[in-house]
Amino acid sequence: KKSGNLNLRSPICCILGHVDTGKTKLLDCIRGTNVQEGEAGGITQQIGATYFPTDNIRERTKELKADAMLKVPGLLVIDTPGHEAFTNLRSRGSSLCDIAILVVDIMHGLEPQTIESLNLLKSRNAEFIVALNKVDRLYGWKKCLNAPIVKAMKLQSIDVQNEFKMRVTQIVTQFKEQGLNTELYYKNKNMGETSSIVPTSAMSGEGIPDLLLLLINWAQRTMEEKLTFMDDIQCTVLEVKVIEGLGTTIDVVLVNGVLHEGDQIVVCGMQGPITTTIRALLTPHPMKELRVKGAYLHHKELKAAQGIKITAQGLEHAVAGTALYLVGPNDDLDNVKDLAMQDMKNVMSRIDKSGEGVCVQASTIGSLEALLEFLKTPAVNIPVSGINIGPVHKKDVMKASVMLERKKEYATILAFDVKVTPEARDLAEDAGVKIFIADIIYHLFDQFKAYMESIKE
Ligand code: GDP
Ligand code: MG
Repeated sequence: KKSGNLNLRSPICCILGHVDTGKTKLLDCIRGTNVQEGEAGGITQQIGATYFPTDNIRERTKELKADAMLKVPGLLVIDTPGHEAFTNLRSRGSSLCDIAILVVDIMHGLEPQTIESLNLLKSRNAEFIVALNKVDRLYGWKKCLNAPIVKAMKLQSIDVQNEFKMRVTQIVTQFKEQGLNTELYYKNKNMGETSSIVPTSAMSGEGIPDLLLLLINWAQRTMEEKLTFMDDIQCTVLEVKVIEGLGTTIDVVLVNGVLHEGDQIVVCGMQGPITTTIRALLTPHPMKELRVKGAYLHHKELKAAQGIKITAQGLEHAVAGTALYLVGPNDDLDNVKDLAMQDMKNVMSRIDKSGEGVCVQASTIGSLEALLEFLKTPAVNIPVSGINIGPVHKKDVMKASVMLERKKEYATILAFDVKVTPEARDLAEDAGVKIFIADIIYHLFDQFKAYMESIKE
């Protein structure tokens, strides 16, 4: 159902990488220069995402003589960096993130979460660019605010240039060990097979034009096949949020298609499919009016790609990280409901048939899947008997306590990036259920492994 070649949507971009590599800072830096100019730069705040119009990007990359033929309207960057947003942006197993930025600290090289991110990107077949950040920390670096990286590098001393080369060589080798070919982008002659590295500083802005240019170049290459606007809805729930005065709302990214006020939709719920009607389609007020507290702009309809807040009845148990479906006039509601529950079914099918195993809990279905995938790998191999999404409550502890009779070490909850209520903690203490909490998957494994070993002794 293509609607003509010039009808292109904005590509969607996520930022991933190890903690403290500068993901948030990099996003701020990309946004920063234009915040003062307000809407003049054309950058607009959406729900959960920032929109960069092509004109803005073109302006900022003009020193690099970027191709002026770009036809996509802009770039939509997801505001929450990290695993979770990326894993939530998916539909039927494939990623809805068109291009990702994998941030690596040039002083640290590849770190555990870099590798986790890399594996995630590979498993979802996602395109990405490596931002080799914090180049300003090279000893003796001379700042060249917002300069293209080659220009900035020419102004550095031989010592800085040598340290840079040495670190890049090491990091390229580390990537190679992970089975990935990488190359500095301005030397990369084979962008299809070799991933590009862009040195950046989120502090002083060197390399930021290059990063934007690469994102643009990528869009140029893929727009015909991937970025042509389609009428079919592609939409995913990033967050479920209670907002004063609005009740439970869902923050979604509309990747394709158009949503209207009054549309009938189906979303995946913890207790089954939720069929409801869009009451309001909301976006934030433009930056200047941010002081108008709690006020959103209402829309009759919104076209992809966009970050949108949706209000509707019955969203309390909606599951973040699942697809939103539109019920069209010719659609069979039961079919749509089945489709909406597919993600949940896939996750449920990972539960061990023996009924013996630990309980796992995560904040979204995407992170739950990532955790389940990890636990299933042969090197880890921990069976799972129960799953849940959201904070750990007393009833979750009760469920896990069933294992005390069968296999004590499995009376355990692996809680990934979720809170544990004080009541649940107390009950776990009394009952002898272990709760391990971490926001990095392999830390959960380390804790559990240590616990298993302590039990054996
Ligand atoms: P995140 O955890 O990946 O989101 O990392 P942050 O954006 O919070 O950055 C972590 C720390 O590194 C903060 O203190 C930043 O100010 C600092 N930082 C980030 N990018 C740069 C950079 O390019 N240069 C320098 N010198 N510091 C940076
Ligand atoms: Mg951050």
